[in-house]
Amino acid sequence: MRLLNIQGNFWLRSWPFLLYNNRPIAIQSMDCMKAQQRQCLNCGMAVAITPLHLDEIPPRQVCVKCDDDVYQQSMGTCLTQDIAHQHETIAKALQKLDVVLLSAWSGYYKEFRVIVGGGQIRQQVLGQLHHYQQQGKILSYQEANPNHGALIAVIRKT
Ligand SMILES: [Zn+2]
Repeated sequence: MRLLNIQGNFWLRSWPFLLYNNRPIAIQSMDCMKAQQRQCLNCGMAVAITPLHLDEIPPRQVCVKCDDDVYQQSMGTCLTQDIAHQHETIAKALQKLDVVLLSAWSGYYKEFRVIVGGGQIRQQVLGQLHHYQQQGKILSYQEANPNHGALIAVIRKT
């Protein structure tokens, strides 16, 4: 068993304890650990996770305590981001769309809303959302009525 030794300044992130005067101390409240945990909204358990990557979407992680999939849990909220009004190229806008998708899955959002304007970016993003839906990365998408310059994608059922 390898332990973190603060005196030797040696870090091992995968182990949630450190040795202090030869006693193990939980470091779960430290920032470096926060990023690797997700709280189960069903039972409150802190579940260990790894940072999400695009090719792992949709993610799955079962809670060790109640067996609920913590990535299917949402707070019913919507993540909104403008991806088309900072002189973005189409490639840059699609890159930003990926970041929004990852952020929405990393958080507890039910859906995300991207402001795309009315030009080429909107068409390309619509195509990409169609692609994402086929891959199961999002459940559905639609234009935000009455604002057609915004698109809404649902990622979680509840
Ligand atoms: Zn749970």
